[in-house]
Amino acid sequence: MKAIRIHQFGGTDVLKLEDVPEPVAKQGELLIRVRAVGVNPVDTYVRAGTYAVKPELPYIPGGELAGEVVGGPRAGQRVFAVGTVGARQTGACAEFAVVREETAYPLPDHLTFAQGAAIPIAFGSAWRALFDRGHLQAAQTVLIHGASGGVGSAAVQIAAAHGAIVIGTASSDVGQKLVRDLGAAHVFNHKDATYRDQIRSATGGKGVDLIIEMLANVNLDHDLDLLAPSGTVVIVGSRGRIEIDPRRTMAKETSITGMMLWSGGEAGLKRVYAGITALLARKALTPIVGSEIPLAEVARAHEEVMQDGSQGKVVLIV
Ligand code: NAP
Repeated sequence: MKAIRIHQFGGTDVLKLEDVPEPVAKQGELLIRVRAVGVNPVDTYVRAGTYAVKPELPYIPGGELAGEVVGGPRAGQRVFAVGTVGARQTGACAEFAVVREETAYPLPDHLTFAQGAAIPIAFGSAWRALFDRGHLQAAQTVLIHGASGGVGSAAVQIAAAHGAIVIGTASSDVGQKLVRDLGAAHVFNHKDATYRDQIRSATGGKGVDLIIEMLANVNLDHDLDLLAPSGTVVIVGSRGRIEIDPRRTMAKETSITGMMLWSGGEAGLKRVYAGITALLARKALTPIVGSEIPLAEVARAHEEVMQDGSQGKVVLIV
């Protein structure tokens, strides 16, 4: 089969289209004919060799997909799946991939494979950040800081469907329009020098109950000023270090916490995806695909996912 393989960590030139043997599903696993692969910022950190977890080389990148089950009782079923069998180096950027059976969820008929590949990491992370870590309740105000990207566009929809008042940020006009269309009550530009004042006045000076933060190394210190009393910042993304003033947490008794999708554990993730699939089936959520790129042009996808002006997910078509 055709697959993208990485033989050494580095720039996008290490992504090679090669002929490799088809993977074989073992007990408890499913072989998937891959139709689409979600591209995530973490794919670029792993490729560059800067991520804490380094796969054994060579490896096939890609941690989420949509496709059809090959063989067995679920043969032909359209699914989306999170987490390929990485230990055996069978990632999603290939014509076939192997996933653990319990991580493959039915893809509703009204969604395309590209939309399916945009679900697992973005919606799973958004759900865990909002509910497991952020304990969001209806009528609370939530700032999705970086609302135009994969996780952000999912978080806006989930929070709005839950009855929260959503404030989103995005840097481009198209990104801001997307966030508004997805249900945010207010949208601001995180590159505008006055956007924090605008958020404060949108909340009548009270601040926000919850912040879902996509770039903590830039925003965390200011986030502490934007929180309402007893508010929480959930760190989803961070690309470096930052100095904060801990005193800012004291008078308002605010909290900073982190979220990592995989730390939800098997039972936790089962619950998360049960919630997501129920809302997808009722068409209450829509996975947003900003660009569809052929598998052979994976280098372009790795560049695009790290650029400003996000509009949902970058997806590879197999
Ligand atoms: P993405 O699709 O590339 O989106 C990035 C988002 O960050 C965009 O909305 C972008 O807005 C926004 N952004 C850029 N500069 C910003 C700033 N100064 N302040 C606030 N937001 C800013 O990436 P993603 O898939 O949504 O992932 C977002 C982050 O979460 C990444 O760092 C990723 O590695 C991380 N992540 C973590 C987990 C986890 O388990 N913890 C899971 C998934 C993702 P514009 O493009 O409009 O400027």
